[in-house]
Order: sequence, then C-alpha cells, then structure tokens
Amino acid sequence: NLQLSKIGQALSGPSGIVELMDDLGAALAGGNSSQMLMLGGGNPAHIPQMQALWRQRLAEIVADQPLCDRMLSNYDGPAGNPRFRKSVAECLRQAYGWDVGPENIAVTMGGQTAFFFLFALLAGEMPSGNHRRILLPIVPEYIGYADQGLGPGLFASQHPLIDQLDEHSFKYRIDFDSLEVGDDIGAICVSRPTNPTGNVLTDDEVSHLAQLAAEREIPFLVDNAYGEPFPGAVYEPIQPMWNPGMVMTFSLSKLGLPGTRTGIVLASEEIVRRIQSMTCIVGLANTNIGQTMVEPLLASGEILQLSREVIRPYYQAKSQTAQALVTEHFGNGFPYLVHRSEGAFFLWLWFPELPITTKELYERLKKRGVLIVPGEYFFFGLNTSENWSHQRQCIRMTFSQAEETVAEGIKIMADELQRIHDSA
Ligand code: PLP
Repeated sequence: NLQLSKIGQALSGPSGIVELMDDLGAALAGGNSSQMLMLGGGNPAHIPQMQALWRQRLAEIVADQPLCDRMLSNYDGPAGNPRFRKSVAECLRQAYGWDVGPENIAVTMGGQTAFFFLFALLAGEMPSGNHRRILLPIVPEYIGYADQGLGPGLFASQHPLIDQLDEHSFKYRIDFDSLEVGDDIGAICVSRPTNPTGNVLTDDEVSHLAQLAAEREIPFLVDNAYGEPFPGAVYEPIQPMWNPGMVMTFSLSKLGLPGTRTGIVLASEEIVRRIQSMTCIVGLANTNIGQTMVEPLLASGEILQLSREVIRPYYQAKSQTAQALVTEHFGNGFPYLVHRSEGAFFLWLWFPELPITTKELYERLKKRGVLIVPGEYFFFGLNTSENWSHQRQCIRMTFSQAEETVAEGIKIMADELQRIHDSA
C-alpha cells in the first residue's frame, strides 16, 4: 500500500499524454499492436534524405575518436555543450538578426522538459502566498502541457473564435476582446504551429501577445517544436519575433531526432541560468548525442536549408494528400470541417453533429485498428462551468506516417463515422 505525496500522485497518475505515448510506443515497438494504423502520436516521419544524413553524421562521429570519446564519455555542463550553444545562437542571428549569444541558450532533455521547468519557474505558489497560473490565450493547445503542474490549477485558458472559411474548413483565432491577463498570470504560452490544430498564429496575434506580456512584465513563451527556423513545418509565410521578454523553445525531435531528447531554450540570461540549475538538480546534465550530431549543421546553416528544402515540402505534401483523402472518403454522409493546415504534422477534424464523445470515437476506432487522439484532452484550463460542446466534437490525426497507412486509416474512420451518424 504505497503512500504517495500529492506531487507524486499528480505526476504519476492517469493522463492524456501518458495514454498517447503508451499507444505510440506499443504501436511502434512491433508485436501485435504494430498492426495498428498509427494516426495518433506526433512521431516525425522517417524522411529518407534526413535518415541518411543522421546515419552519415553518426558514422563521421564514430570515425572521429576524440569527438566520439568526448560525446560518450564526458558529462556536458548543465546548460549544454558550449559549441552547440554558440552555434544555435549563431544560427538564430543569421536567420533573423536577433541579438542573441550562447548565454541566451540552454539545452534541456527535450522541449517537454523545457516546459516542465518553465512552468515550475513561473507559476504555482509565489513567495507572497499568491497563486500564479500560465495563460493559454487559445485552446486547443498541446496535450503534453496539461499534466505538468506541480499543483492543481496550473492553467487559465480561453477558447478561440472560429472563422468558417468554406463548407469544410475553418480557422481558430485568438479572442483578444475577451482575453484578460490578470494579476494571477505568471506567463503567456502558445505553440506555433499549434499542436493539435496545425494553426499558425499570425504575426499580428504574436506581437499583440508579446505586447500584453510586456505590459504585465511577464514572460511570453513560444513553443517552436514544429516551427521556424527548424524543422520549419510551417506552410504559411511568417516572420518570427523575439525580444528579451520572450522565451522561445526549439527541439531537434521533429527534425527526425526524438530519440536524442534534445530541447533548446532561448531566453534572458537569468532564465537560462535558472534552467541550467534545474537541469543539474533533476538530471545532472543533458544527453549530448543530438547536440554533437547537429552542431556542424547549425554552424554551417545547412539545417536551415534542409528545413526549407526537404522537411517543409515533405510534410506539406503529406498534409495535402491527407486533406484530399479526407475529401474523397468523408463525402456528404455527415458534417465535418478540417482546420486550415498551416503547419505541424496533424489534421484537426471537427464533427459538429457527432452524437458520441470523441473519447468514445477513439475507443471505437481503436477496436477497428486505427489510433487517433480524442480532442477533449486539448481543451484544458477552461473554466469548468463553461461547457463548450465543441470540445467533444474534434479529433487529431497525424499525417506523418506512410501514405497507405493514412489512406487506410481515413477510410476506416469515414466508415465508422457514417455508421455512428446513421444509427443516431
Ligand atoms: N511542444 C509541442 C507542441 C510538441 O508537439 C512536442 C512533442 O510532440 C513537444 C513540445 C515536446 O517534444 P520534445 O520533448 O520531443 O522536444
């Protein structure tokens, strides 16, 4: 009869992200569950040209004995490898002209860990005794943030305005008229592109949020896991901005290296020093294989070119194929809308007349061998008295898998949805 602390219960109990990653791990590990059509998690595609590059980089490292020995047999300093930090800063200076140096860069064990640290730093119980929260100015937002609180009530969030673009497409927009940044807000946070919707907040929305954060003297966090400048899974022209009041996170995962667990934080020197201490206390140092593999590609700028010329077109084509398959299979039997696909690896589908919850839809599809993610999970932090039915009408599907997998999954989904609507 194990006695657990409150934090222990919160961090080890049931959660959407754990369910999602368990499904993903089981489906990708082989065995019976490998028959599953994996339209669930956010695993990057294995893009042949990128996979070849990673194998080549590993071979170069193995052939370079001093480098290989340093990588495998030395601890890095807790803010990350000095050369890597310098090259990241250089890459961002080159790409955008931002005035940043290695002292503005901290490496973490994946972007996921970066957010755990940032939320713990900026929200929760303050020395004054007041409680501060993280404001998500728009949900649906990344499921992986939802359970990262060290106490309850970490998030305050607000649902978006819905612009219907045509019969079968829509786009979310931040409802600035209703957005309140109260004294209890410790930071504003968005992902751009947004997981799960594929929305890319406009430059105007981002600068408006930056201004609100600056007025309140709180940090504005922008999660670029899929974004600019790498991996660059952004299908709309945008001009990323940063100022010292902002915290940007990047990751090597969606370049194709999730196994290296490498996240990057760009922030003020103070926040960087604090992240460095947290890395040290929680895990001593970061993994350094991803840093070693990617550092020369950052220094030369090659990573920017690969993002623009290989990764972006690859995912954009996948998105278009998936959208065409949805149009082909969904037909006119039931109402549906697709969020405009502006970035990331997902289509966000809305079924306005769905007679069951999307958790039930998820279970029914899983029985038929298709994994998707129910939309309910992505609407956290909303005032619970607000029972917005839209929350139970959306699902996320990944289009990063092989085309046959995506096609078969969409076909089965269409068939199941037709049955559900017919029997309602
Ligand atoms: N942020 C977003 C929006 C994501 O989708 C993910 C992963 O899917 C992460 C952060 C964390 O990724 P990682 O920890 O692999 O860098």
